[in-house]
Amino acid sequence: MNYEEVLRAIAGEIEPLRNVGRQADYIPALAKVNPDRFGICITTVDGEIFERGDVDERFSIQSVTKVFSLSMALSLMGEKLWERVGKEPSGAAFNSLIQLELDRGIPRNPFINAGAIVLADVLMSALAEPEADYLAFVREIAGDDTVGYDRDVAASEREKGYINAAIANMLKYYGNLENDIEEVLRFYFLQCSVEMSCRQLSRAFLPFADRKSDFAFGNVRLTSSQVKRINAVMQTCGFYNDAGEYSYLVGLPGKSGVGGGIGAVYPGRYSVATWSPRLNEKGNSVMGMKALELLTTYTSESIF
Ligand code: GLN
Repeated sequence: MNYEEVLRAIAGEIEPLRNVGRQADYIPALAKVNPDRFGICITTVDGEIFERGDVDERFSIQSVTKVFSLSMALSLMGEKLWERVGKEPSGAAFNSLIQLELDRGIPRNPFINAGAIVLADVLMSALAEPEADYLAFVREIAGDDTVGYDRDVAASEREKGYINAAIANMLKYYGNLENDIEEVLRFYFLQCSVEMSCRQLSRAFLPFADRKSDFAFGNVRLTSSQVKRINAVMQTCGFYNDAGEYSYLVGLPGKSGVGGGIGAVYPGRYSVATWSPRLNEKGNSVMGMKALELLTTYTSESIF
């Protein structure tokens, strides 16, 4: 497949969308990012890289980190993890509180905020040095020691993080947080603040596409069956209340974040990352989703 050619065609076709949508501004630090950016990078399991646009600039990957958090939590806890968090699509906004009350403190899935706050709690209880151990894993999977937290973004989010604080309080009330609320939130926001470029994110998602190599990064080890299941959760829950639409249009397991990033995989073949900060009303990147839709349409390659 000539991905170079495909990316060129995609870049041309999505150009009219450059001013469509709005970047997340409920996190003050994210409101400062230049919204008129677009980058896409494909990394194949054979080690080839195809890229286009703003692939070097780092951005806050936000909820895309929930995939790394799930990987780590699953490797530490195995199937027991699912006693604390479900694996059903929520059909609700990423920061919704409603179902959490109905489900008595068990979040629908690990890729909405409530679920990821539980993952943060699980990791805090299991890791000797949560902050350092988490970053070490993320650096390892990205193959790049320069990847880091953006503490200004994390602090800015905590300052206005009223809904996430409400979620954490409700989890605590229902007995689904072991650690101190404030400390769990701090760690959760820090995870969300991880910064990467599109090229780094694409590389960091490759292990979810690569069926030949072992998933082993430091102490984080997953069987190929566990990796397959993480992909399944991405497919069904990776885009919140846009998961059906994303599935319909794109057909690749993926995860979005309000920083405008998306990481996705074509299992057995490649991983792909896109970045463009303008979001649709569900909090997913407008240009990123369109680019992935065109990618699977032009190549006829998707999991379906
Ligand atoms: N840090 C963001 C929040 O908790 C992550 C949400 C997202 O990327 N969808 O609101």
